[in-house]
Amino acid sequence: MLETDVLVVGGGPAGATTAKYLSLAGVKNILVQRNFNFKKPCGGGIRLDAFDTFEIDKTLIEKEVHELNLVHKRQKISIDISQTPIAIVDRVKFDTALREHAKNAGTDVYEAAFVSLEIFESYVISTIKKDDVYIKIKSNSVVAADGVNSKLRKQVNNDTVSATMTHYCDITSQNYRSCTFHVGEQVAQKNYAWAFPHAKGSNIGVVAEHKCLEVLKKDLSLQESTKDLGYKIPNYDTMLFYKKRVFFVGDSASQVLPFTYEGIYYAMGAAKILADVLINKELPSIYEKRWKEKYAKKFDTLLKLQKLFLYNDFTIRIMMRLYQNPSIQKQMVLLWLGDRELTINGAFLLKVIKKILQRRK
Ligand SMILES: Cc1cc2nc3c(=O)[nH]c(=O)nc-3n(C[C@H](O)[C@H](O)[C@H](O)COP(=O)(O)OP(=O)(O)OC[C@H]3O[C@@H](n4cnc5c(N)ncnc54)[C@H](O)[C@@H]3O)c2cc1C
Repeated sequence: MLETDVLVVGGGPAGATTAKYLSLAGVKNILVQRNFNFKKPCGGGIRLDAFDTFEIDKTLIEKEVHELNLVHKRQKISIDISQTPIAIVDRVKFDTALREHAKNAGTDVYEAAFVSLEIFESYVISTIKKDDVYIKIKSNSVVAADGVNSKLRKQVNNDTVSATMTHYCDITSQNYRSCTFHVGEQVAQKNYAWAFPHAKGSNIGVVAEHKCLEVLKKDLSLQESTKDLGYKIPNYDTMLFYKKRVFFVGDSASQVLPFTYEGIYYAMGAAKILADVLINKELPSIYEKRWKEKYAKKFDTLLKLQKLFLYNDFTIRIMMRLYQNPSIQKQMVLLWLGDRELTINGAFLLKVIKKILQRRK
């Protein structure tokens, strides 16, 4: 039986970041990651300021993106994001480096799979499986950072993370330099389709049914044969922060920004908040309170904008019309990649209608 203060399950951005900050503050912790070579299906796009905020080595950046495109049918709008660029990382290298940071700070990192747990009044006994050997770990608390298919969530809360299936593939014949979002009912239903630079080559995909990926390939005039894959991405509607000595963080907690489906930055952001709560031995409810103070407004706003503008082709046309306005472009970029706040209410909707009418004149 091993003993520690905190057992962290899952060594992706959420788990590795929690473990690193716990170790830096001297809190004993063990991190278990099922497979050190796991390649998280992911575009690997992260806002560049994340590297300073979470003290990550910038040599992990494979590419930098300074322009976004928004495409609807034949219409294309280009948006300059050079003030707030996006970095593209290779997820195997990135996650490995995050776990290395945690290890160097003092975390015991095991390549092992979490199997089950028993929760007692003042401690938790977890079972992990390493090289066919079952090991018990006694800890004061457990951090569930085991992603969208969280086993801990099933065992502790008896539910699964509400999620949408994505369909995507890597492509080698194109080397995109900007991130292009394709919107429209045919190509992306009520979400978006993407064509992004990837660590190697490019990556395209849809947050929608597989048939939309075929539409996207046609729109992109793609000739190469591809290996299409699918993976789930959490919806921000079944958040879970804490239950019975287990804290949830990242995808297992549904902490993925609506509309853009950006999860890496927010997994690390929530991990930092959680680590502080554990370090200072604060009440578990403080984790949820601080997360909500920092992120709830942004998440709620993006969800409302997604529902409002990606509803159907008509509302998408309105969004495209608005995006032609440079000041709206700037505000939306700041809302997404910066710290601008926006309130969606009757006054906002009135402003939208006014802008549309002004453009019509
Ligand atoms: C197709 C696609 C594209 C995406 N593109 C982007 C993007 O460009 N930018 C962005 O910000 N977000 C993107 N996301 C979302 C992003 O990948 C996730 O939100 C982010 O990885 C969440 O981090 P996490 O640490 O919570 O979970 P994960 O990264 O999923 O990490 C969980 C870890 O737990 C491990 N694990 C699972 N079960 C066990 C177990 N039983 N025992 C031990 N270990 C276990 C897994 O192996 C994994 O390493 C994308 C998602 C998808 C599906």
